[in-house]
Amino acid sequence: MSTQLNIYSQNYVFAFPGQGSDPCGALAELYQHVPETRDRIDTILAIIETEAAAHEPDPHPGLITQVLLTRDHALPLPSGVAQLALYGAAVVLNQLLQATGIVPSLIVAQSFGEIAARVCGGVLDIAQGARAVCALNAAYRSEEGRGSMLLVNLSAQDTQALLDRYPESNLVLGSVNAPAQCIISGETADLEHLLAHHDDSAHPLRPVSIAYASHYPPHTEVARQLHKNLQPLTPKPFKTPIYSTVLGRRYEPEDDLHHLFTLGVTQPTNLPHTLAQLPTDKHTVFIDLGVNSGLSVCIRKSLHPAQTYAPLAQPIESLRHLLVNAPEAHKAVVALRQLANGPVDAEVHAQMAKMFSDPELHPRANQSFHEGHRHTYQRLQHLMRQLPDGIHGFAQPQLLMAEATHAALNDPSLFMGCVIQQGLCIGTLLAFEQDHPSATQWRRKLEAGESLGVYALTEIGRSNSHMGACVEAVFDADTRTFVLNTPNKAALKFANVGISNLDKLGVVFAQVIVQGQPCGVFAFMLPLSDANGPRPGVSMSSPAEIRAVPLDYGLASFDNVRLPFDAWLRDGASIDASNQFHDPLGSTDRRLIRSLFAPKNVWAMVGVGLSSVMLACSTLALTHANRRTTQARIGNGTGLLAFRTQRRALFGCLATAYVMKCFANDSARLWIEGTASQASLHTTGTGDVTWTPWAAISQTLALTKALCAPAAEALATECRLRCGVAGALNLNRFADYEGMAKIYQDAGGNNRMILLDAAKVLIGQPLSEPTPPDPQAGLDDAGYWQAMAHTLEYRLLKHVADHIARHRGEGEDDMQVWNAQLMVVARAGEAYAQRLAIDSAIRAGSLLPHGLARELGNALCGLYVLEYLNKHAAWFISEGLMDIARYRALEARLDSLSDFLATQVDVLIQAFGHGAATRAAIAQTDHYPDALADKLQWAVG
Ligand SMILES: Cc1cc2nc3c(=O)[nH]c(=O)nc-3n(C[C@H](O)[C@H](O)[C@H](O)COP(=O)(O)OP(=O)(O)OC[C@H]3O[C@@H](n4cnc5c(N)ncnc54)[C@H](O)[C@@H]3O)c2cc1C
Repeated sequence: MSTQLNIYSQNYVFAFPGQGSDPCGALAELYQHVPETRDRIDTILAIIETEAAAHEPDPHPGLITQVLLTRDHALPLPSGVAQLALYGAAVVLNQLLQATGIVPSLIVAQSFGEIAARVCGGVLDIAQGARAVCALNAAYRSEEGRGSMLLVNLSAQDTQALLDRYPESNLVLGSVNAPAQCIISGETADLEHLLAHHDDSAHPLRPVSIAYASHYPPHTEVARQLHKNLQPLTPKPFKTPIYSTVLGRRYEPEDDLHHLFTLGVTQPTNLPHTLAQLPTDKHTVFIDLGVNSGLSVCIRKSLHPAQTYAPLAQPIESLRHLLVNAPEAHKAVVALRQLANGPVDAEVHAQMAKMFSDPELHPRANQSFHEGHRHTYQRLQHLMRQLPDGIHGFAQPQLLMAEATHAALNDPSLFMGCVIQQGLCIGTLLAFEQDHPSATQWRRKLEAGESLGVYALTEIGRSNSHMGACVEAVFDADTRTFVLNTPNKAALKFANVGISNLDKLGVVFAQVIVQGQPCGVFAFMLPLSDANGPRPGVSMSSPAEIRAVPLDYGLASFDNVRLPFDAWLRDGASIDASNQFHDPLGSTDRRLIRSLFAPKNVWAMVGVGLSSVMLACSTLALTHANRRTTQARIGNGTGLLAFRTQRRALFGCLATAYVMKCFANDSARLWIEGTASQASLHTTGTGDVTWTPWAAISQTLALTKALCAPAAEALATECRLRCGVAGALNLNRFADYEGMAKIYQDAGGNNRMILLDAAKVLIGQPLSEPTPPDPQAGLDDAGYWQAMAHTLEYRLLKHVADHIARHRGEGEDDMQVWNAQLMVVARAGEAYAQRLAIDSAIRAGSLLPHGLARELGNALCGLYVLEYLNKHAAWFISEGLMDIARYRALEARLDSLSDFLATQVDVLIQAFGHGAATRAAIAQTDHYPDALADKLQWAVG
């Protein structure tokens, strides 16, 4: 079928036809109606005219240009002009298409078309290509008028049978164009004889407009001359593979290109055979670079099913759209994709995407929990073996961010495995391994996937257990070792210990006791289990399943486990010969903050992972709504995205995903910089513990997780609901992503505590009042958005600060003072995080190039912020920051922003979609029912 071109398809084959078509006026309509193409056309034709003037024996200045751009000429044209014009049309089309972003992955070339194909493939430049055409013209000049070719709609076999009926003639089968279309080649007298005697009216012979016989074995002298004429041209290496219909295969780097091109003079072409060699699939689109659709028709007849597109056979409006509007869209896709990639290079993302496309990393369907956990560990070990070296030791921290994106999209359980293995365990060892050779060895085992990491911090008995670990590591002065003990069930550790016969290495947090005195919470590393089960003194429970993201979470305890001194990740602390404990940090609070260094890595990974998952959910749901039509009585046959409820919900989700992605990217940058320079390690531990240590470790990174997780949970739920049955099916992935968002409400630190903590830190600092919002400012004004968000945050914080100051003076204790305001404190923490996120999105949007990309970025950010203001409208009105008219205007603007985004839904899906990585059937743009059916096994009665 002839197809509409999707500019973003990566799988194009450019097809270059041979000669025989009429080039007169081929570019006239394009030149007249699409003025944006004129500069490029003028430039290319000027090059060809110059070469023709230099290399044709009888040049006609300007004639090639006139032939292509006007309708003033007709066949036959002076010698060589038709060939130069056909070549010109092909290279013009090639350049215009590539400038729109339509780039071939393969090229197929028929006969003469190989010259333009070589330009397309990077072997020749345009001037060299024109010289090659002149070389061909010169070689054939003595043959002009002595032969030609005829087209017949017969198979190769029947065409040969026809020729066999005229043994006295020298006619040959020159080309097989399709299963029932061939070209006969020969001298004029023989062709005339055949025409005169041919009596099969069902298969008439049609002359091809060419002045000599091509693919004609007697032309050995033409071939020799052509080979000689081509010698001054030096081919460059192929940038894109070219398949030749004369060779029936692709060119290889070691091929003698001049010699092989010359073969076409005497040897036949075979398009169906060559097409069969191409590695194409049902998504491949063949683009016909001829002056009509002749080659596309042959391709469709030869290959089933083949999608083809012949630009010069399209209505001019559709071609105009492709060449003018689509490039703008393409630029926007590239810019928005780059924004979403954040601090990670596109190539690194591509490398990770490829790695995660390995089926060995994908979960299997219908496994029991237990089998699933084991398989997750196998996949984790496989992944650790595949990862690029630069990721080890966090030498190139951006690699970990790229991995987080693709692991999250691939499978939340595997993502969780990576978080524990790399973010927590390797992260802790890296931070504290200085002067600690065995820690470095353990780390290498984790990096090689030989051991599996367990991070045992949380204890089940008390809330905020990390504030005061009850597991004890008692220093034994006689042996200078430690004895690890779980004093009671309340001190049981919660971690991934449910499978107890794998090689697991624990990073276990315990209170160090020296001479009976608690000295602070430190990390210890110890082997927990191997293939034979738990190590002596270690107990590991069966898995206590968490359905949302299955991993073998369970409980662990320690019964007098003796640890060498070296197991203590002491980070500069010491116990001297007289058993005196020293910690250069000077306080157990600071020690706690420093020991809990690694969650920082988790927050960066989770921010990046969840924001990618949010983009994936929104674009999956948009893809589905965009192609799905309704049979409801109102709007029967209409696409779901036309309905306002659906549109507002789904673009609202995309807007949230966009803002969270910008925020997570900024946080990832912060993490990358800190990790690369080790600055984050040295600064950690300088803050104070407020409620919990999270804000002191890294407020921004902790807040990124605290904002992304609830946003992702709400978003995944909304997207699932907006997709009906398709949303409910596990294989469409919403349930997985929703589960992932759910667990990160607590995993890596409770989000509510993070918000409370952040607000408490801010309240303890001097608050400065932001510039109040201008009530007359436009709703699309980024300054207005920032002023509103900042004022909300400031007034909430100020409210609490005033309350605290007042009530402290009245002698209330901390619990009384703070507890009365806790709802406002949590809200203030969230308002602060929201302001950071909005600032990130505004900053990222301001870096987008002007044009569609910037408009879309601003619309997404605007939709998010106005929805945020809408949600808090009652508060803004009560504070005198919004009047009723403005409140009503919000609704209208939210509608119009989502209406605008709906006009660019394809661009947005393309820019932010992760269709293939999700493996969701719903990601299929056109064939969802087929894709879904293919993913299931069938019992057929
Ligand atoms: C899937 C998953 C995986 C995990 N993996 C690990 C792991 O590998 N290793 C590990 O060590 N831990 C792990 N955890 C534990 C995680 O770190 C804790 O769940 C988290 O720190 C919260 O602690 P908690 O569960 O004891 O909740 P609690 O601290 O009991 O909190 C319960 C609720 O009370 C509220 N609350 C508590 N204290 C206060 C207060 N002072 N003021 C106001 N509200 C308060 C909290 O906001 C929360 O809503 C994991 C958790 C989950 C869910």
